[in-house]
Amino acid sequence: MGAKSSNNGKPLLELKQLCRHFGGLKAVHKVDLVLNENALNGLIGPNGSGKTTIFNVITGIYEPTNGQVVFDGQNINGLEPFVINQMGIARTFQNIRLFPNLTVLDNVRIAYHPHAGYGMADAILRNSHFDKKERELTEKAQEFLSVFNLQDRQGEIAKNLPYGEQRRLEIARALASSPKLLLLDEPAAGMNPKEVATLMELIHFIREKFNLTVLLIEHQMRVVMGICEYITVMDFGEVIARGSAQEVQGNPKVVEAYLGLGAAELTKKFLKERKQ
Ligand code: ADP
Ligand code: MG
Repeated sequence: MGAKSSNNGKPLLELKQLCRHFGGLKAVHKVDLVLNENALNGLIGPNGSGKTTIFNVITGIYEPTNGQVVFDGQNINGLEPFVINQMGIARTFQNIRLFPNLTVLDNVRIAYHPHAGYGMADAILRNSHFDKKERELTEKAQEFLSVFNLQDRQGEIAKNLPYGEQRRLEIARALASSPKLLLLDEPAAGMNPKEVATLMELIHFIREKFNLTVLLIEHQMRVVMGICEYITVMDFGEVIARGSAQEVQGNPKVVEAYLGLGAAELTKKFLKERKQ
C-alpha cells in the first residue's frame, strides 16, 4: 500500500515503511503514513496494534528497526527526544505524565522554558532582564491555561486536579513548547461521553488557533469518527485501512479487526438482508 495524503496541503510528517520490532514481535511493521499540514488525523486500532509504539518512534523514545520518519522534510531517525520536541513535535501520554507535585502553572512554565530568552548569567544574577523574562513566561503560561479553562487552577498541585482537568493540563503543557505537530495518545480515555465531546471540540479549536497538525490515537472508533478528517486503522502492527471516517467504517478488514473473524461476513450479510 503506498502512502496517501490526508488532504491537499503540504506533508508535515511522513512515515516510510516504518518498522519497530521487539525481538520477534512486529509491534510496528512497514507503516506508510503522510500527515499534511493543519490536518486532523485519527489513528485507531485494537489494543496492542502498535499505535503507541508509532508515537514512541516518532518522538525518539525508540529508534526504528527499519524505515524512516521524515518531519518537515528532514529525516529525524535517531535524534534525541528533546531535539525532536524542539523541532516542533509534542505529545501527550496514554497514562498521564505530569509533574504531580508541581503547581498547574509550573507544569506549563517548564514546557515553555526553552523559549524563555535569558542566559545562565541572568538567572544567577537575577537581574532585571531575568525578572522581565520570568514575568513574560508566567503570562504566556497563564494564556495557555485560559485556553483550557484552567486559569483558576494555576496555584493548585497538579495531582489534586480531577482526572479530566489533568488530561487538559497535559495538552496545555504539550502546546507550550510551540509544536507544529501534536500527538495525542488516547486523550479521551476514562472520560464520560460529555467530557469526550467537550474535549473533541477543544481539539478542533486548538488546531485552528495554533495552526497545528494533529494525530489523535483512540481505540474507540466512534470517538474519532466525528472529528477526524482522515483516519488510519492499524491491526497487529500494520496499517489495514486509510481514508475518511465513512470509508474506513464499512471496510470489512476494519470490522473484522474490531469484532473478530467472521464478523465482517455477518455484517455484509446483515446489510444485504436489510436492503432486501
Ligand atoms: P497500542 O498502543 O496500539 O495498544 P502498543 O504500541 O502499546 O499498542 O503495543 C504494540 C505491541 O508492542 C504490543 O504487543 C506490546 O506489548 C508491544 N510492545 C510495546 N512496547 C514494547 C517494549 N518496549 N518491549 C516489548 N514489547 C513492546
Ligand atoms: Mg497505546
